[in-house]
Amino acid sequence: MVPRAQMANDALWSPVVRGLVPYTPGEQPRLSGLVKLNTNENPYPPSPRVIDAITAAAQQGLQLYPDPESTALRQAIGTYHGLDAACIFPGNGSDEVLAHAFFAFFQQTQPLLVPDVTYSFYRVYCQLYGIRAQLVPLDASLQIHVADYAARPAGGVVIANPNAPTGTALPLAEIESLLSSQPDTVVLVDEAYVDFGAQSAMALIPSHPNLLVVHTLSKSRSLAGLRVGFAAGQPHLIDALVRVKNSFNSYPLDRLAVAGAVAAYEDVAYFEQTRHAVMQSRDALTLELWRLGFEVLPSAANFVFARHPAHDGAALAARLREHGVLVRHFAQPRIDPYLRITIGTPTQCEALMRALKHSLSFGAAQK
Ligand SMILES: *Cc1c(COP(=O)(O)O)cnc(C)c1O
Repeated sequence: MVPRAQMANDALWSPVVRGLVPYTPGEQPRLSGLVKLNTNENPYPPSPRVIDAITAAAQQGLQLYPDPESTALRQAIGTYHGLDAACIFPGNGSDEVLAHAFFAFFQQTQPLLVPDVTYSFYRVYCQLYGIRAQLVPLDASLQIHVADYAARPAGGVVIANPNAPTGTALPLAEIESLLSSQPDTVVLVDEAYVDFGAQSAMALIPSHPNLLVVHTLSKSRSLAGLRVGFAAGQPHLIDALVRVKNSFNSYPLDRLAVAGAVAAYEDVAYFEQTRHAVMQSRDALTLELWRLGFEVLPSAANFVFARHPAHDGAALAARLREHGVLVRHFAQPRIDPYLRITIGTPTQCEALMRALKHSLSFGAAQK
């Protein structure tokens, strides 16, 4: 490193960057052999048709820029969801799509309504873009209470359904009432986990001009490494996102990503098979956690959110890591006792159970 004489590390930073508290992603260990149940990836690889499509795409045209509109992908996603391609806005992971949506819709005089416990990236985007957020507490059972979002002035609403990191889902009727209670502001529903057992709000798009639904291919389509997500909504919302995108990066999706993502939507059988395998493992794991004395929130996602009445969450996560199993713990008010455990393959779930049994007996009543 070049020595910087007498200059503070942040001396050249803008005030905004000095004030940022960036999102902390879950650990991506360099060590192999760990059972990785901490970042909600799919335990199964993507469809073989995805690999074939990426291989074919790599063999021609990489010297050329990709299609800036990702037309083929918009069509494939639109066809799958019964929407016009003009209703689909793809991006480099749904995190990028979310960032553009926050920029496009939520920089308003009224505050953005956000649950107090949810995907922590939402508050990072608020800080980055100077958006005022008003936190709306989950109820005592850690559920979103839709009536709390009605009839208060809002410059937007963002929720995750199923919510993260709790995993609980709202029924469609509640999403509809949320949309009707805030007709003059964009309601963003982040459905990153919807394919694992919740009801999607996609069907409400034609009747609700203020609805933006965001999906990712990172979870239910096993493509976290490819970085693809999208927003769906009426074309007037999509147009705003396109304006932001074209003021930032015209080519967010490369040729390989588009080819792989299109193939993922074409292999419906593989998608159905893998998501059902994950749901089955989740339900089996929930039963086993109950037997060990855990309280488990009802999950419609590919993870469970669980706490043990006799054990501290952080200590338990640390013990599990010593046994080679990574889970996620959030040192945050209200959810500090909980562990968020990604659903693995049956073999990974067994390894988790073995590690849990050791960890619980070691630290009995350590709380
Ligand atoms: C995983 C996740 C995302 C991010 O997905 P990417 O497409 O990988 O960026 C967005 N929202 C929620 C709630 C998530 O859990």
